[in-house]
Amino acid sequence: MGFRISSKDYMQYLKNAAKMIDEHGDYITKLDAATGDGDHWTNISKGFEKLVSSAEELEQLPISDCFKRIGMLMMSTIGGSSGILYGGAYLAAAKKIEGKQDINSQELFQSLDAMVHSMMERGKAKPGYKTMIDALYPAVEAYQACMEKGLDETETLQAVKQAAIAGAQSTREMEAVRGRACYQANKGVGHIDPGAVTMSYQLSALVDTILGTIQCSKDFE
Ligand code: ADP
Ligand code: MG
Repeated sequence: MGFRISSKDYMQYLKNAAKMIDEHGDYITKLDAATGDGDHWTNISKGFEKLVSSAEELEQLPISDCFKRIGMLMMSTIGGSSGILYGGAYLAAAKKIEGKQDINSQELFQSLDAMVHSMMERGKAKPGYKTMIDALYPAVEAYQACMEKGLDETETLQAVKQAAIAGAQSTREMEAVRGRACYQANKGVGHIDPGAVTMSYQLSALVDTILGTIQCSKDFE
């Protein structure tokens, strides 16, 4: 067994993530108002709305081209720091899986790894700087550790999701080095970073969408 993700699957994941982000609008806005300028939810949901409305077009493409289009759409619609960071991340992932029609678990890992490295480079940020990277980086690390241990895909994906959530929560105690929170007198200590939360929502939705598919294919075996 082993899952494969097509553009259609990926767009289904993005629809699920969009719904999750949408449902937490007030919470995200409150988080960004505490340490930033309050627009993170507006920015990110604008991007996801565009992706969802482009789903019919995007799901026809090979997944590498689908990632490229997602990157371009995110860059042009999200705005703020997140638009550039997400846009660049998807373009980096597209390059990593160039020419692929769909991707397996190893290639999903490579895509997420390419994304986090692109974000760190563009944002001049590292783990511990109180940004969205603090959710993605531990998730990628957990993915790698589970693959090295030879854990099955369900256990691996669950670990990825838990690491992303724990990573987002860990930003509460961090002093911001990047992002608007670093201009605050206390560097945002005591507040969770909004970008880390929306990143953890996306990774949770990604895992849940894939696990749903695995469960479904098991049922039909
Ligand atoms: P802006 O900060 O321009 O208003 P958003 O509100 O959309 O943009 O996004 C804020 C989020 O972006 C922060 O919560 C943080 O997670 C992330 N972020 C900001 N700057 C950086 C950076 N240099 N590197 C990585 N992530 C960053
Ligand atoms: Mg903001």
